[in-house]
Amino acid sequence: MKYYSIADPSHVVSFEQAVMNGQAPGRALYFPEAIPALDATWWSGFYEKDAVEIAYDVMQPFVGEAIPEKLLREIVQATIDFPILLKQLSDELFVLELFHGPTLAFKDVGARFMSRCLSHFRRNSDKPITVLVATSGDTGGAVAHGFSGVPGVEVVIFYPNGKVSPFQEQQLLTTASNVRAYAVAGTFDDCQQMVKAAFTDQQLQQERMMTSANSINIARWLPQQLYYFLGMQQWRYQDAPVISVPSGNFGNIAAGILAQQRGLPVQHFIAACNSNDTIPRFLQRGVYQVKPTVPTISNAMDVSDPSNFIRIQTLLAGKTDALSQLLSATAFSDDITRETIMQVYAQYQYLADPHTAVGIAAAKQYQQAKQNAKAIVLATAHPIKFSTVLNALPGIDINDPVEAASLNRTIIPAGEEGWKQVLYR
Ligand SMILES: *Cc1c(COP(=O)(O)O)cnc(C)c1O
Repeated sequence: MKYYSIADPSHVVSFEQAVMNGQAPGRALYFPEAIPALDATWWSGFYEKDAVEIAYDVMQPFVGEAIPEKLLREIVQATIDFPILLKQLSDELFVLELFHGPTLAFKDVGARFMSRCLSHFRRNSDKPITVLVATSGDTGGAVAHGFSGVPGVEVVIFYPNGKVSPFQEQQLLTTASNVRAYAVAGTFDDCQQMVKAAFTDQQLQQERMMTSANSINIARWLPQQLYYFLGMQQWRYQDAPVISVPSGNFGNIAAGILAQQRGLPVQHFIAACNSNDTIPRFLQRGVYQVKPTVPTISNAMDVSDPSNFIRIQTLLAGKTDALSQLLSATAFSDDITRETIMQVYAQYQYLADPHTAVGIAAAKQYQQAKQNAKAIVLATAHPIKFSTVLNALPGIDINDPVEAASLNRTIIPAGEEGWKQVLYR
């Protein structure tokens, strides 16, 4: 399979190059040249297949010759090495829990797949490969764990000191020796600036290969299809479900629509957003207008110009009315999110994290208009990751096992002084 740049379709690269580059020139996104179909015979055996077999068959056409069969099987096995559970809350409401991976949020699948691809692709190089990441929370943890112990790859993570939760910080710090995380005396923006500056540094470029574990990398994006395939394997109803996806950068929902285009029976997708509502406004009014990002309690979705939306438009391009039939989007405030958490807890004794709660609010709103539509909400994070938000609500009390004071962090200065201290040898 070859990949082209959505901004310039004449720029075409291999799977390996697309993974190593991360993004196409001009910060554009790579997109597969074809959407590989799964044939009728494959679908007729779908419910009997085991998870690794499904994962291999779903991913193989995208990888092609770039990774040998035996290794790709090992990679997908490691990628989905945790349960993906469909739970029923009521006759028409289901949650698909994607948070049973090592860092308790759905980003584990993408990080685990990408790290192993990178490790393979650098095998003939004598330079070490360094993955540089700036994180405000979930991504850093998933990347730290995904790359932990992966041979030939070193990971350096910058996070803003005092601005990630103790639980998240513990995930950043408790990893193998090839992963180093530093608390930067500054903001998340400072961390991003440091990564950018290090990337353009001549001395570092000579010493080592450097890449980012950016969420638009196809090796993080494509494996997210697996959630939808493995979730639908547990679906026992005649009618295809509606799927509500808590969305920020729109990578997860774009992967779901890709799975649907390959034949997975899904009736409709709902992009559930917080107050960062660029796409809901765009789908309702046809005007794409980016406003400043606002902080919310579902902070992994605080994105006001979602990179992956263009992948959905590319997937559905040329299909009359497909976008409006297949996809709707709604936005919910923090107040509604909190109310939903409490209502869901009271009604079903189910504790949803704030991201999942936004998804549930969207599914319920959709069901009011289309009665009897069975809906699956993707549960994207474990509630314990957001214990501070949840414990502030009446009647909810969950224990966060991590104490900030007990963590053994290394604090470095922001700016050039900080990254040189860590990266120069
Ligand atoms: C990253 C993240 C999201 C948003 O996913 P996108 O693919 O960026 O739309 C939602 N919930 C949680 C918990 C996340 O970590």
